Amino acid sequence: MLEDIKQGCLSCRKCRLCETRNNVVFGTGSETADIMFVGEAPGKNEDETGVPFVGAAGKLLERMLDAVDLSRNDIYIANIVKCRPPQNRDPLADEEDACIPYLFEQIHIIKPKVVVCLGRISAKRLIHSSFQITHERGKWFTMPDYDIMATFHPAALIYDSSKKGDTFLDFKEIKRKASEL
Ligand code: URA
Ligand code: SF4
Repeated sequence: MLEDIKQGCLSCRKCRLCETRNNVVFGTGSETADIMFVGEAPGKNEDETGVPFVGAAGKLLERMLDAVDLSRNDIYIANIVKCRPPQNRDPLADEEDACIPYLFEQIHIIKPKVVVCLGRISAKRLIHSSFQITHERGKWFTMPDYDIMATFHPAALIYDSSKKGDTFLDFKEIKRKASEL
């Protein structure tokens, strides 16, 4: 059950990020969701609350969801690593390796039809290791148990609002695909 995995994760000490975290950010949303979003790692607000995407990037994610008539209750949101890297640095390879089994267990239990990588770090880990977000976002890749696509990380939209149009098209396509499958 997801709750059992969560309880194990909340006391996890499998990598060095356990030493600096305040809260493990396991994931939130519908446990029967057709669509699962996967970000990179918790930031400051997420580390303080234990909830993914609650800061500025989260507000933008909610606006994109709202634009295609979805809400956080319809989907599930998690990250590649569950504890905040110090100074919001990128997660290190060994931290991702230590943490990724939790994500695969989440996917296994929730069984989404569609997985959406938010940004390059998630796409490199879940789609392929040389993923280029500017060239390959918006394209579907087929995995044995689900279809997967990457779009821009919502934080990237804060710095470059010209990416919002493409991101909106990706969100429309994500919703279409999930309802078609
Ligand atoms: N950025 C992420 O990738 N994940 C979060 O949970 C918050 C910000
Ligand atoms: Fe465990 Fe993942 Fe946190 Fe590392 S980041 S301590 S593997 S939950």
